[in-house]
This record gives sequence, C-alpha cells and structure tokens, in this order.
Amino acid sequence: MDDCIFCKIANGEIPSSIFYETEDLVAFDDLNPPMPVHCLIVPKAHYANLAADVPGEVFAKLFAAVPVVAHMKGIDESGYRVVINTGKDAGQTVQHLHVHVLGGAPMSERMFKK
Ligand code: 5GP
Ligand code: ZN
Repeated sequence: MDDCIFCKIANGEIPSSIFYETEDLVAFDDLNPPMPVHCLIVPKAHYANLAADVPGEVFAKLFAAVPVVAHMKGIDESGYRVVINTGKDAGQTVQHLHVHVLGGAPMSERMFKK
C-alpha cells in the first residue's frame, strides 16, 4: 500500500533493523523502545489492524513467530509481553497490523488500567 511505513519497511524500501524474515512476515526493532527489548512482527501483506478481515492463517503465522523472535532476542526464558494496539483508544499510530513483543526487564502490571 502506498505511503504505509510498515509496507515500505517490509519490502525493503525503508531501511530498518529486520532480524527475522519469512515469506509472509518480517520482525524488526522498534524505533522508540520503552523496554530493553521491543520489536515488531509485521505481516508483509497490508491489513490496517486486527479488525480488518485478517485471514486466520495470517494470525497463525504472526503468533507462531512470537516465540521464535523472543528466543532470538534472548527473552524466552525471562518472559515477555505481546501487544496489538487496535484503533484510536489503544493508541494505534501505524495503520498496518503489527505485534509488539516487549521484554528484557520486569514490567508494570498496570497495563489494563486507564
Ligand atoms: P502502534 O502505536 O501503532 O501500536 O505502534 C507503532 C510502533 O511503531 C511504535 O512503537 C513506533 O515506535 C514504531 N515505529 C513507528 N515508525 C517506525 C519506523 O519507521 N521504524 C521502526 N523501526 N519503528 C517505527
Ligand atoms: Zn502497510
């Protein structure tokens, strides 16, 4: 999709720190990490978000990539948090489906509060 930053990262138009890639997805470090490890898993196909009629197999591949990415980043033993922001109230800023994987230090338990 034109003018979508994650489409451009996924197809190599914009340089990024892609450290894992399959036929269907890429994983790269977030530009602005609040945690020692913060990476994003992004399908190569464009879907605006979780609610955009995403085929089940896309979710299956995204979630299957999570433990792989966590292992590559060395946080599979210590644990990690997986987040998919969807829409305005969740603070979704990039309108291309992506899975955040966060870890590397203990996290607040307060993420479900306002
Ligand atoms: P959202 O707020 O949509 O759930 O997450 C978007 C994430 O993408 C943010 O954590 C932001 O730091 C990250 N991000 C935005 N633009 C870029 C970019 O050009 N490169 C990388 N690596 N991350 C980006
Ligand atoms: Zn896109």
